[in-house]
Amino acid sequence: MGSDSSDYRSEGRIWNHQPELPVARAPLFTWPPRPLALSQWYARSWLAVSTSSCLALLAVVLWTTLQAPISSYQEFEFAWLLETHIRNLCLMTAVAGGLHLYLYTFRRQADELKFDPRHFETDHRRFTFNNQVFDNIFWTLASGVTFWTVWECVMMWGYANGQIPMLTWNDNPVWFVLLFPLLAMFHDLHFYFVHRALHWPPMYRMAHAVHHRNSNTGPWSGISMHPLEHAVYFTSLLIHVVLPTHPVHLLFHLYWLALAPAVSHSGYAGILAGGKNRFVTGSFYHQLHHRFYDCNYATAGVPIDVLTGSFHDGTQEGDACIRKKRMPQRRR
Ligand SMILES: [Zn+2]
Ligand SMILES: [Zn+2]
Repeated sequence: MGSDSSDYRSEGRIWNHQPELPVARAPLFTWPPRPLALSQWYARSWLAVSTSSCLALLAVVLWTTLQAPISSYQEFEFAWLLETHIRNLCLMTAVAGGLHLYLYTFRRQADELKFDPRHFETDHRRFTFNNQVFDNIFWTLASGVTFWTVWECVMMWGYANGQIPMLTWNDNPVWFVLLFPLLAMFHDLHFYFVHRALHWPPMYRMAHAVHHRNSNTGPWSGISMHPLEHAVYFTSLLIHVVLPTHPVHLLFHLYWLALAPAVSHSGYAGILAGGKNRFVTGSFYHQLHHRFYDCNYATAGVPIDVLTGSFHDGTQEGDACIRKKRMPQRRR
């Protein structure tokens, strides 16, 4: 274990910072339905400065500036394959590396809004290179970004050759815009089922344990996964084979899969400016999953755990409820 900067253990606390409890989640699966609260949840995610809106903007900006016309992807050529891979490596390094430098290297807000008081492991054989951050960087860049690039190149080739149905802005502008949040929701739904499968003990031992080495997560933990997990994780992209979309939707979907986890695993509830949380980063919903393993398999945006009884709301009552169901071999 890494050394601890506070006496939180002696105080019986496991968190340095907890958001307001019960943990925030989209007001789906409630009775009676709460349409106003639900629309406010999605408005906060998509109409304000947030991970979702920034990634949608990034996809649009990159598509209209750096990306070559779709016709240039008709043949697999080394130049654009390499260019795509280098761009993806740069994007991942900018987002995960930038957050890591800001929050952990330069410690620009010290422990303010940091969920877990522990430091990253620097000498533990559970990790590749015995170092948590190096381990996470390795699995993210060597495996995660490689899968990202392969999917992006194959799908772009598919659009260019008419193998993947194309939707343009002129076909239906309203649907074109709505596809951004709908694709994010679709992936979150897909993630729940894939994630449950990854917790099947043989799959957990073979693959998902690599991601769960991180009970205390950081930006590089987001897609720090075994290649087998990457192989199934990215399959939500297959929706583009049957649903007409534009390449800009594909780029957004890829960024949602690869870059959003770097933000949501940051370990901090947000970026402080002027004493206020100006940009929500970490997901306490998923942080609870990394800490307790057997709860919160879904995401706060599509909290299916509420229906399946695996929802941990962050309170002591939620802890007691999940503790009863915990697999005996798992520990905090
Ligand atoms: Zn898991
Ligand atoms: Zn995770």
